[in-house]
Amino acid sequence: MESNVRVRFAPSPTGPLHIGGVRTALYNYLFAKKYNGTFVLRIEDTDQTRYVANAEQYIIDALDWCNIPFDEGPGKNEKFGPYRQSERKELYKEYADILIKTGWAYYAFDTAEQLDGHRKGHEAEGKTFIYNWHNREKGRLVNSLVLSDEEVQAKISAGENYVIRFKTPQDEILQMEDEIRGNIKIDTNTLDDKILFKGDGMPTYHLANIVDDHLMEISHVIRGEEWLPSMPLHVLLYRAFGWDAPKFAHLPLILKPVGKGKLSKRDGDKLGFPVFPLEYTNEVSGDVSRGYKEDGYFADAFINMLSFLGWNPGTEQEIFSLEGLIEAFDLKRVSKSGAKFSPDKTKWFNQQYMQTKSDAALTELFLPILLEKGITTTKEYALKVVTAIKERAVFVNDFWDLSSFFFETPTEYDAKASKKNWKEGTPDLMNELINVISSIEDFSSDNTEKEVKEWISGKEIGFGKVMQPLRLSLVGKLAGPHLFDIIAMIGKEETIKRLQNAISKI
Ligand code: GLU
Repeated sequence: MESNVRVRFAPSPTGPLHIGGVRTALYNYLFAKKYNGTFVLRIEDTDQTRYVANAEQYIIDALDWCNIPFDEGPGKNEKFGPYRQSERKELYKEYADILIKTGWAYYAFDTAEQLDGHRKGHEAEGKTFIYNWHNREKGRLVNSLVLSDEEVQAKISAGENYVIRFKTPQDEILQMEDEIRGNIKIDTNTLDDKILFKGDGMPTYHLANIVDDHLMEISHVIRGEEWLPSMPLHVLLYRAFGWDAPKFAHLPLILKPVGKGKLSKRDGDKLGFPVFPLEYTNEVSGDVSRGYKEDGYFADAFINMLSFLGWNPGTEQEIFSLEGLIEAFDLKRVSKSGAKFSPDKTKWFNQQYMQTKSDAALTELFLPILLEKGITTTKEYALKVVTAIKERAVFVNDFWDLSSFFFETPTEYDAKASKKNWKEGTPDLMNELINVISSIEDFSSDNTEKEVKEWISGKEIGFGKVMQPLRLSLVGKLAGPHLFDIIAMIGKEETIKRLQNAISKI
């Protein structure tokens, strides 16, 4: 049965979703699923100046790829819809008006120039201008706290631009609870009277966010640390409306690999890793940003990695399926301090997941790559190759580099390795080896290994003298899986051909 745990992911569609945003969505999802609750997606698109048309679809596609689907949201189970704030526009003014009526908010008519003047004036005296109890009723600011009702109405009727500001209570030490950070205190005298509603008829983030969280019956607000400074206003807004506030949990920042500062796209560009789940094309500049998906990460590995950026299960276990994460996740184990992003650890997760994927599933991903390379082969052969190399691969995209010699005769030989291992006597030895190989009947890996090694032992020479030039002949370099597995896979004829090639080319 569904519980009354209802959480939401409330991104603003201003561009691609940063992995910090995905982590917020993930923690909301895990929390919702753990308590049999509902995960809501709400698009906070009230700031039209920052709106980016393809961003909403990007967010939805990203959640989809990550396999953390929302239960309610645009176009899905619209029980409390619409879920796009721009489509709820009419609603917010009513709530702003309620606050005006109850004295929790007021009209302010100060122009941008006037406010700038106050700011500069304060600066000149070494002070900071805050629009709040210090000055809101002193007569220098133009608002409904100092103007008469008639004056206010006259200004509004005349079409003068106004905003609606929150009237922050004075002289109070506000006590708040955060599920991760515990008790937080703030002196309300340090807060400014934030704008709730703008002259363009749109609410600000604060008003729309609170109204929607209330109307959508959100029980827990789980969001990034950057919203912590908004928490006092939000708590006060709930009080002003007479509504029960949801519980709050502010997640730690994701930090640069060096540990200081918020992880940015620039860090990714500089150090060569994506900071977005999916590739993103900027509609205006045409710039393309890399994505984890396109870089070859498995969605489950990516999610597992993200889950550890700010949370840990309290045990040594690092590999968790989504179900495992749902079970283990606990807000109480989310840390207060920032989580350092590690590109190496991210790769490590992918490599771990690579080993858990079935060879058949990986083969399906490898076949199109082979096709692109113009290789004709059978599924059975490709599967055997995958089995032989997957241990060494971090990405499916590595498969070709790790295995091209299974499909193609090498045409080049690593110069350094040749110099070191291809000696004067090597061609003669390799010719002898060709004879040995020609006479082997059971061409399985084990048997070939046995027979070749017996021959080497009989000659009383070091194994390296044969094995290194042999590997060089078959692979082109001193890399790859077990040599006799390669021999068994490519077959007798091809093995002999490659040895002959090497003899004539190196
Ligand atoms: N729209 C805000 C954002 O872009 C939502 C913050 C919140 O979750 O309250 O992150």
